[in-house]
Amino acid sequence: MGLVRNWRTRSRRLGWRAALCCIFLVSIAAVPSASKEIVGRDPRVLILYPYDERIAATTAAGEAVRTRLLDATKGRIDLFSEFLDLSRFPESEHVGRMAGYLSAKYADRRPDVVIALGEESARFISANRKNLADGARIIVAGFSRSTAEEMGLPSDVVGAFSEFHIVKTAEMARGLQPAARHLFIIGGSSKFDRSWLATARADLAAFSKDYQTTYLEGLAIDEFIRRAAEFPSDSIVLALTIFKDRDGRNFIPREAVKQISETASAPIYGPYLTYVDYGVVGGSVVTFESLGKTVADLALDAIAGKPVSSRESPQTYVADARQLQRWGLSQKNLPLGTNQMFREPTFWEQYWLATVTALAVIMAQGTVIFGLLVERRRRRAAETNSRHRLLQVVHLNQSATAGALSASIAHELNQPLGAIRSNAEAAAVILRSERPDLKLIEQILVDIQDDDQRAHDVISRIRGLLKKRGEIDWQEFDLNDVTMSAIRILHGEAERRGVVVSSNHAPRELPILADRVHVQQVILNLATNAMDAMLDVVTTERRLMLETALTRESKVELSISDTGSGIPDEQLATVFEPFYTTKPSGTGLGLSIARAIVETYGGKIWAANRPEGGAVFRIVLPLARSG
Ligand code: ADP
Repeated sequence: MGLVRNWRTRSRRLGWRAALCCIFLVSIAAVPSASKEIVGRDPRVLILYPYDERIAATTAAGEAVRTRLLDATKGRIDLFSEFLDLSRFPESEHVGRMAGYLSAKYADRRPDVVIALGEESARFISANRKNLADGARIIVAGFSRSTAEEMGLPSDVVGAFSEFHIVKTAEMARGLQPAARHLFIIGGSSKFDRSWLATARADLAAFSKDYQTTYLEGLAIDEFIRRAAEFPSDSIVLALTIFKDRDGRNFIPREAVKQISETASAPIYGPYLTYVDYGVVGGSVVTFESLGKTVADLALDAIAGKPVSSRESPQTYVADARQLQRWGLSQKNLPLGTNQMFREPTFWEQYWLATVTALAVIMAQGTVIFGLLVERRRRRAAETNSRHRLLQVVHLNQSATAGALSASIAHELNQPLGAIRSNAEAAAVILRSERPDLKLIEQILVDIQDDDQRAHDVISRIRGLLKKRGEIDWQEFDLNDVTMSAIRILHGEAERRGVVVSSNHAPRELPILADRVHVQQVILNLATNAMDAMLDVVTTERRLMLETALTRESKVELSISDTGSGIPDEQLATVFEPFYTTKPSGTGLGLSIARAIVETYGGKIWAANRPEGGAVFRIVLPLARSG
């Protein structure tokens, strides 16, 4: 609600209407202050409202004054408000009664400053200041200097005046409508309306030269409405005031402007804040905040004993965003600092917090995901790397085992080869006889084939030990089988060393998922170590036992025990450390490789001493499938 909109309009006097619209053109002279200093109490300020509390134009201005005063003094101020109700009770009797009542009311609390909002309040306090506020500084506000002059206010009264420069509003329109060629100025038929038209005509003399200019005056409201509907679209329309039309009908100007704007075919501008929301695009206006600040600053200076002089409330450009949209006017062409009202907040303005939060969360998530991906890649690369290393080391270990077993392997190979040779010689002798026993020859050939198969088996076991692989060859196999094939490889060596090898297999299949050659290598490492540990034991007591079982936790277990020296208890864990060895030509790598292999397949390995002497190594691996 604005000053024009709510200032009451019952009075017919032009001066009153001028206050209504804040269109006042005369100034009063600056008056030096001679305020007494206020000692020992908070300053008293009385704000006089011309109407009752419902008239938002004055109450909003008064509220702005109060807020500013309370802020500036941090609440150390005594504020009083009086609603004079002079529009509904304009009679001199009421004025007199009101003056008497207020004089009595404030007899013991004389105000230091009286702020009179609107012309009626200004007249009231000027006439009654002796009884009501003797010695107080009087500040008037809400009308123009010219009105103040017409009123003949006392010379020490200072004003916060509101002046209306139609040219500023016109320039705002030109900025928004650079292609406009027509200019229409609308004004009513009251004395004030006509005087405003005359002022505008003079002020706009230069501006209107650039346009085909028409002053719409002396019309009835219906004619205004009809003419407005026929404005060429490249028109700028400036609305002054219509207090009265040609037929003598009275209007609140903003209401008349509203009726005209509803059917107008071109944008309308006006110099009053109260016209905004009544169909105008905007204009250069005095806001309540601006008025409140000017008045309060004057009052604060007066309280501080500083010299005060009349001032003008600064004007602000305001625009109605809905009207800008209605006429397709770009907000980019608004004067700098224009206060846009009724603007729909943009998506960003409305949801910036939610948007920023969502983006931050997404970015944080993205960063975490990216980090995790990088981490995963790095881990995979490291895993691949360590797998390759393991494969290389295991291969070296296999080669070393093959080397260590070469004597017994050669021995093992010699047996079938020797048998083949003997059989072949026997067959040759038989064939040279007169009546060769073909049945016997046939038997010899079968034996030769069997021996050849045995030799072939030995060679393929060696080949398996020496084969180099680039990747783990995952396969499902029975732990019993791989234990047996390891025993076959060791067989010759064990025999050479006088070690009796025995095995005790679980009565069922024990499927595991791993690289068969790797598991075989673990068994070979453990068995070789066991045989090494029995070097000092009498030959009759050298026993190597391999046992497989299914544990209670449904895991696969292999234990390799010996009757050797055993392991000092404090070394039971250390034996798995790389390079730990007690042998003169040992590498200390066999057990660490065995542990690396077992852990690769999700298993565990540990060592213990048997109560009856010797060591036992146990391996537990996951069962590939149950049943
Ligand atoms: P290396 O056999 O080259 O010494 P290992 O890592 O295979 O390397 O073994 C490390 C050490 O663990 C051996 O030197 C030995 O002292 C001890 N050890 C391994 N197995 C047994 C066993 N069955 N009985 C006694 N000691 C053992």
